[in-house]
Amino acid sequence: MLKRHVAIIGGGISGMEAACIMAKSGHEITIFDAGEKLGGHVAKWDLLFPNMRKGEEILATLLDQLPQSIHILSNTIIQNIERGNGGYIIHSALIDNIFADAVLFAGGFDTFDATRKEEYGYGIYDNVITSIELEDKIKEHHFTTSQGTLPKRVAMIHCVGSRDEKVCNNYCSRVCCVTAVKQAIEIKKASPETEVFCFYMDLRMFGRHFEELYREAQEKYGIQFIRGRLSEASENKDKTIIVKAEDTLLGKPLKMTVDLMVLMVGMELSKSIVPLVEKMQLEVGMDRFIMPLDEQLYPNKTKQEGVFVTGTCTGPKNIPETLNDARSAALTIMNYFDQLSNKN
Ligand SMILES: Cc1cc2nc3c(=O)[nH]c(=O)nc-3n(C[C@H](O)[C@H](O)[C@H](O)COP(=O)(O)OP(=O)(O)OC[C@H]3O[C@@H](n4cnc5c(N)ncnc54)[C@H](O)[C@@H]3O)c2cc1C
Ligand code: SF4
Repeated sequence: MLKRHVAIIGGGISGMEAACIMAKSGHEITIFDAGEKLGGHVAKWDLLFPNMRKGEEILATLLDQLPQSIHILSNTIIQNIERGNGGYIIHSALIDNIFADAVLFAGGFDTFDATRKEEYGYGIYDNVITSIELEDKIKEHHFTTSQGTLPKRVAMIHCVGSRDEKVCNNYCSRVCCVTAVKQAIEIKKASPETEVFCFYMDLRMFGRHFEELYREAQEKYGIQFIRGRLSEASENKDKTIIVKAEDTLLGKPLKMTVDLMVLMVGMELSKSIVPLVEKMQLEVGMDRFIMPLDEQLYPNKTKQEGVFVTGTCTGPKNIPETLNDARSAALTIMNYFDQLSNKN
């Protein structure tokens, strides 16, 4: 077998898993990551849905499996990629002119910028936070309001930046319903007296054990689910938040005062990968995620020969889906190399 070089853009779990498989098969791999450490978003999550396993445990296992032969260039943003010598030439500020036989896009996602929903008051009211900030609070065992007190009432708002024509994101981000359920349970564990209300449009509990977690949230922890969309939020003098919504099951407007409002932010294609997507003229969908050559048959190929894609670059996915997609991408690239060798 001819040893080939693959440049992987993004060292989240998708890039790591694809790298691991290809390196173990004897290929030379370079991972470029914009961040300081490998792991992407999973490095930020404390306990994972649906089984409350530590995010760092998953990462440690993936890191342990990575062969030493893999080159890791962290804090590195690729500035340009161009075709050349039958493959691609990569230009970064750190090392220039790296030749790769194939390029794998694994740049992942960004969470939705909640300031774009001005009517929800994020960035204006101190006690309106995102699910990412709540995750940090839970991780640091510092679950308090901006005044440093334990919240008596918390509202979790689903679909922030997803399923919303106003922000041009019509798609469902898939992971935020179950994340809300998981975080609501964590709130109740940290502070059993706190009342938690989830405001949802539909509950999308698609994965194995998700429905059970939702049941547990209601039966064991008394978390309340209200079918209704938030219309606006405002702040009282004492920094509590007034939530205005419509209960769409009862068909009645609803007003509630809470101590903390948590916005369940959705997923968008990583902004830092967009210039390269444009440069390589990769197709994107209406949702602005990268479009594979064929969603059913070739989910990891792109219309550019030698350029592949994996993970949440092509749309929202949870961890098992991302890892399976990375394995599929590794196999697709190695089949491509076999075809190249057979041609020559
Ligand atoms: C709030 C929230 C909670 C979640 N909790 C869970 C959970 O409990 N259980 C579960 O199964 N799933 C969960 N997920 C989903 C999980 O986070 C994703 O499946 C996973 O992070 C996808 O990995 P990825 O490699 O595709 O992308 P990412 O994790 O986004 O990694 C992408 C990497 O690419 C790098 N990068 C981006 N652009 C560039 C560039 N231009 N150059 C170089 N590097 C670049 C980034 O630095 C990053 O390291 C959650 C998602 C959200 C939004
Ligand atoms: S997973 Fe739930 S909260 Fe997230 S976009 Fe879909 S329906 Fe909305």
